[in-house]
Amino acid sequence: MQSYIDVKYVNLISPYLQQFKKKGDFLWNFRCPYCGDSKKHRTKARGFVFRKKNDLFYKCHNCGVGATLGKLIEYLDLNTHKDYIMERYKTGSDTITPKPEFKFNAPVFNKNKSSKGTKVARSPESIVKELKSISELPHEHPARKLVEQRKLPQNSLKDLFLCPEFYKFTNKLIPNKFPSLDGDHPRLLIPFRDEEGEIFAYQGRSFGNEQPKYLTIKLQDRDKIFGIDRVKKKEHIYVVEGPLDSLFLDNCIAVGGADFNRPLSIDGSLISNEDLTVVFDNEPRNNEICKLIKKTIKSERKICLWPESMEYKDINDMILGGYTKEEIEEIIKENTYQTASATVRFATWRKIND
Ligand SMILES: [Zn+2]
Repeated sequence: MQSYIDVKYVNLISPYLQQFKKKGDFLWNFRCPYCGDSKKHRTKARGFVFRKKNDLFYKCHNCGVGATLGKLIEYLDLNTHKDYIMERYKTGSDTITPKPEFKFNAPVFNKNKSSKGTKVARSPESIVKELKSISELPHEHPARKLVEQRKLPQNSLKDLFLCPEFYKFTNKLIPNKFPSLDGDHPRLLIPFRDEEGEIFAYQGRSFGNEQPKYLTIKLQDRDKIFGIDRVKKKEHIYVVEGPLDSLFLDNCIAVGGADFNRPLSIDGSLISNEDLTVVFDNEPRNNEICKLIKKTIKSERKICLWPESMEYKDINDMILGGYTKEEIEEIIKENTYQTASATVRFATWRKIND
């Protein structure tokens, strides 16, 4: 039973509530903050927080409003709500957490502290050890739930981590990278490891609507390639955009935007154009992606351009849509183009004739 956090927060919001009274073990009563309750009778209180299964809910018997405890807290005080979400992520509360919907300001980066000349204050490994991997979290934990809803392969969960305070965590590695901890929040931490398994960068994916969805932190000045610790350079290599997408396919790495068209070298050896296939997301209307595709075709790399029948925009969505890994790998093979054939196919794929 972990509803002690919920109980704690009921008490924390009590100053916002009039006629607040504890009526039982998991029952509280107060004047409804939504409708204001009876105007005539100042002592009338028809709002209740009560327990259902493991969660606390709010219900008003005057206006009929119903809400999760989280929503009620959010309505009353945004900062308390932020703490509430954070605390539940940290402790692995076994109750349902609604997706955090509070607004965040985009974080301020200390640009001069990035990549080149970055002095990493502590070994990244020692710091990641302080975090819980997703595989260590109970199945009901909201972070694990989110990862499992995305159907990520089970064996990948041990190298994905819950980072309860992303800014604070990053500042331990790069002091003052985030000059303000305002709006700090939990993120899924995805480590980028080198050939030796050392972490040289990491990405934080937000769990809710926090922007940007992905934040990448470089600890060393090298290309942001995800998966080089696992890739077999003697076998054909697939290159996708998203680290999480890469986990679904065999011998697949992920390369971030700007690094996409650079020569790819792994463990000191350059990978030839024949030995790799670039697989972009299926977004013909995305201009940024189309620009990258054009460059890739020019560089004479093999490229997968998805068939028109494919309705999903990335590999993870295809998996969620019911495609198996083998089916996706087959579709990629059948839709791989290079040089002239790629140029022709790209024109139809974009649905333009140029
Ligand atoms: Zn009400």
